[in-house]
Amino acid sequence: MALHGPAEGILPFLKQPILRDTLSDPGLVNVSSPWKESFLTKVHWDNLYRLEDGALKPLSVTSAQVLQQIGCPHASQSKVMEIDYPVALKRREEDKVTLTVKGCSFCDVAIDKGFHGVLSLDAVLQQIQRLPQQEDGRKIPFELINENAAPALPALLSRVQADGIRLSQINLTLRADWFVSAQKSLREALVLAGALGIRILLGSVGFESFDDRILANLHKGLEAETNLRAVTLMRELKNEFPSQWAYARQEGAVHGFIHPTPWDTVETESNNRRAMALYGLEQDILPERSIPLIIHHASALGDWAREIERREGIQFKREGTTIGWWQVGERFIV
Ligand code: SF4
Repeated sequence: MALHGPAEGILPFLKQPILRDTLSDPGLVNVSSPWKESFLTKVHWDNLYRLEDGALKPLSVTSAQVLQQIGCPHASQSKVMEIDYPVALKRREEDKVTLTVKGCSFCDVAIDKGFHGVLSLDAVLQQIQRLPQQEDGRKIPFELINENAAPALPALLSRVQADGIRLSQINLTLRADWFVSAQKSLREALVLAGALGIRILLGSVGFESFDDRILANLHKGLEAETNLRAVTLMRELKNEFPSQWAYARQEGAVHGFIHPTPWDTVETESNNRRAMALYGLEQDILPERSIPLIIHHASALGDWAREIERREGIQFKREGTTIGWWQVGERFIV
């Protein structure tokens, strides 16, 4: 049985068993209570164990996550849009599927959480205070969970400095458009990071593609040009702050590049290849391997795949919690 919503929503059910027939969906408990900050500030990192040789052994935690934002602002509003048919099944240019999407069409986090706002600075600092320390007395590296973390980073680092907290590394996962628009704040944060001996690693930007048609089908909400501006800015910041800033694959970053997709054509392939060549993306940006488009059942693209199945009288391969859009029965369609 799955729980949907804040984890503390399980507490009443631990006292009283769930009666399956009272649920609208027998496999899912939907918790309607809001996310409460008081449940999100304390993590007991020393209370984690693994089973080893038949005994519980304490788990040594070397990197962690600090929650600053619940969900993603890009998923805050629903939008009706048209998504292209897969190239392999398309008969006419007008073949499209109309869908309601929230955030990126492939993102199950967007569907699962939507957007529930940002935690207070105090709540974020309380989480940081509780992180384990390294041997040098600094807190272990952590990922700041916030797709738009850059604007508030200078204020966070100022409080870290004022409170005498010693950090080692902050990992960021940012959208390319919000990264580019927050470059002034980032430079400010990097100056502070320099004074405090902190490294900031841009660990992941979900570029996904450098072709506008594919980005539109993914409902990424930005264009290839913005992705390329982000690449340029990443490299500029490295020149300006070589010790504080890290962004490259060789420095531990894994940026998102989705390929193949159901919408790959000669034109989309050529656009991707041109961006790779002109901007030398293989040098530092592209991951070791691209990831094929993964369609989770719950994502908007899950609805897209099921609608195509209905219209075409076919069934794509089911792969656990995902839909294998590349295969119908035993036949590969790409
Ligand atoms: S993929 Fe990233 S930007 Fe897109 S909706 Fe999900 S969390 Fe937001």
